[in-house]
Amino acid sequence: MRPTVLCFSGLDPSGGAGIQADIESIGCSGAHAAIACTALTIQNSQQVFGFEATSRELLLAQANAVVNDLPIRCIKSGMLGTTDNIAALVEFLQEHPDYQYVLDPVLVANSGGSLGNLETLVQAFQALLPLATLITPNTVELRALAAEDDLELATQKLFKLGAKAILVKGGHEDTPDHIRNALYINGELVAESRCPRLEGEYHGSGCSLASFIAGRLAQGDELKHAVQHAETWLFGVLQHAETPIENGQKIPKRF
Ligand code: PLP
Repeated sequence: MRPTVLCFSGLDPSGGAGIQADIESIGCSGAHAAIACTALTIQNSQQVFGFEATSRELLLAQANAVVNDLPIRCIKSGMLGTTDNIAALVEFLQEHPDYQYVLDPVLVANSGGSLGNLETLVQAFQALLPLATLITPNTVELRALAAEDDLELATQKLFKLGAKAILVKGGHEDTPDHIRNALYINGELVAESRCPRLEGEYHGSGCSLASFIAGRLAQGDELKHAVQHAETWLFGVLQHAETPIENGQKIPKRF
């Protein structure tokens, strides 16, 4: 059986982000995706209307059901929704220290909608930072997690809090013609990528990138190579993204 990524993520009915983004992206990477569902959200490509989080017990029961059943090589988390779910994931990862882990520290949807209580999530995320092989914040999430506006200082602060590797995604920065991502390992900048900024807003681009990386790590790729491969793949997927009927955020075309 293909190496498996077990995702802790939420359902987005639009299919742009969340569980569907994870399944499609991990499939595209060549790995198999398994899911422990953290929340059911109510949203479309334009806005979030609300969500109901899975209980901690139900979340752990889902994950534990597949642990000895599938060849899990990597964990990926996206929307966790509650501090209880974050604590459950910490407990799960501590029980499985051999798994690689990609942490996409989702705080709000790209459309701006709430996916949990910002303040308590930021606090609870601190316990996950040292457990991750790679953390993939956009610059809004990075500044919030570090409580620091300067991006270089914020990145170094996460390393002080135990991070091992960080991919800083520059999509939210004011660079009109390009997007710059920067990969840091153990505090050192090891790779930079620049791609032209595509027009419009995209729903689920962060989920897709983190999941594809997790899929490549599950198959044995080295971290830097997995990130570069995922960035190239994501650019193609966003170039072919489809625009919903009422001009909502574009939905990546992952196949
Ligand atoms: N997970 C879920 C369930 C979501 O609904 C969203 C955004 O709407 C995200 C994750 C993050 O999406 P993005 O990749 O656009 O940051």
